[in-house]
Amino acid sequence: MFTDSHAHFTYLKPYENDRTALLSHMKAANVSRAMAIMCKLDEYDAIKSWVDLSDDTLDIGMSVGLHPCQDEQMLSSITVEDLLKLNFEKVWAFGETGLDYYWDSDKKQAQQHSFATHIHASQAVKKPIIVHTRAAYHDTLDILKSEKCTHGIIHCFTEDYDFAKAALDMGLYISFSGIVSFNKSGELRDVAKKLPLDRILIETDSPYLAPVPKRGRDNEPSFVPYVADVLAELFGKSREEIGRITSENFSRLVGLD
Ligand SMILES: [Zn+2]
Repeated sequence: MFTDSHAHFTYLKPYENDRTALLSHMKAANVSRAMAIMCKLDEYDAIKSWVDLSDDTLDIGMSVGLHPCQDEQMLSSITVEDLLKLNFEKVWAFGETGLDYYWDSDKKQAQQHSFATHIHASQAVKKPIIVHTRAAYHDTLDILKSEKCTHGIIHCFTEDYDFAKAALDMGLYISFSGIVSFNKSGELRDVAKKLPLDRILIETDSPYLAPVPKRGRDNEPSFVPYVADVLAELFGKSREEIGRITSENFSRLVGLD
């Protein structure tokens, strides 16, 4: 089996009116679990409607959170209660949260407030956070440390080995997207192969970042085995073994058995 740890189901527009097609692609590719990611709180109903399509062979859970590139007012006013009131059994994590100084360097304080708030919510109910970080290397690590975050995912990982090591030492997991398959990502692959396999996850970040050989197309959760292929090569394992190991890692992280 394969687990897609990060997919934006509600942005998969071509499938909005044909959800069965998307789900059957996943089942055909043995992608039997995925986490549907929230970027703002009013997406709750739309995401929950995907979660409700789970069945015996395909388990869809969700996150609750506010992306760092959302509106400054929303970021600076979010509370732990806002997040926890949307929590229920199928909420597997809080996020995606984090810092993005690449697109939004003018609202650092609001992002930092929101990031810390997500960590506090995650600690209150012992569920992981999902961390987005871009052009915010030091501040991301500083906040994780100062807020004593020990439970989470560095999603769509593209940083260096020292960043990964710092996150792993805190207890976090590292999730690789299609970026690890791109031609130019040699350095990232060098980092990946130094990491402990029992702390790695795979994701699509659909509809973005389709992995080779689907690069350039809309991404979808059924493509996550192509990310596994890259790790399989790096670790000398089969794609199925990588699928199984990363699925076990995900189960352990979010407390599913
Ligand atoms: Zn995302």
